[in-house]
Amino acid sequence: MISFELFEKRLASLHERIAAACLSASRKPSDVTLLPVTKTHPAAAVEYAARAGLAAVGENRVQEAVHKRSECTAPVRWELIGHLQSNKAKVAATHFDRVQSVDSVKLLTLLDRAAGELGRTLPVLLQINAGHDPAKFGAEPEDAERLVQAALALPHLRLDGLMTIAPLSDDPAVAGRTFANLRAIRDDLAARCGTPLAELSMGMSGDLEAAIAAGSTCVRVGSALYGERE
Ligand SMILES: *Cc1c(COP(=O)(O)O)cnc(C)c1O
Repeated sequence: MISFELFEKRLASLHERIAAACLSASRKPSDVTLLPVTKTHPAAAVEYAARAGLAAVGENRVQEAVHKRSECTAPVRWELIGHLQSNKAKVAATHFDRVQSVDSVKLLTLLDRAAGELGRTLPVLLQINAGHDPAKFGAEPEDAERLVQAALALPHLRLDGLMTIAPLSDDPAVAGRTFANLRAIRDDLAARCGTPLAELSMGMSGDLEAAIAAGSTCVRVGSALYGERE
């Protein structure tokens, strides 16, 4: 695990990258939230984020996050950004403050039921395969409207917006196209469904500039903060 001093240094350069990207896009840095991704790192990674004043962390596996959360006293919110299997929906609704990776009506229904039983409202994002990547999870863009309508009809979910992951590619233009596509999908759905879908979670360590240019409101950053994962 890196030292807190190194973490702070990397965080400062990341804030500079975000500010520069916002400047080129004529956007306000305060409109882009940095979500530190602590997957594969120990609970100390979460403590670092909290100590630096970050409000939430992202984890991509339910079991790992539940375990880590039990070891942490840091006052942060936990967000699920990785694929969720339906048999883990209830655990996810119990232990996460928001689920960014919802990609089916079945999951929406299970999360809503679990949130209802817990007497809470669960914020969610819909993960859309905006890059048509065969290797990625996420709903197909053609199914997005059906998912939005389903989410809006469920009483214990709060639909905040959309999330995507760009396909792995040597061509940086691929990420840019994916993010622009998610933005266009969002604008279209917001108009048709009469809901703002204000959160656009897109961009990671390697492609956050392209994501911010396309309107990202949440960049999910792991390796640029904590180093390469093993
Ligand atoms: C791991 C992960 C990230 C962070 O990726 P880095 O390249 O390490 O910044 C972002 N989003 C999701 C969904 C991830 O699984």
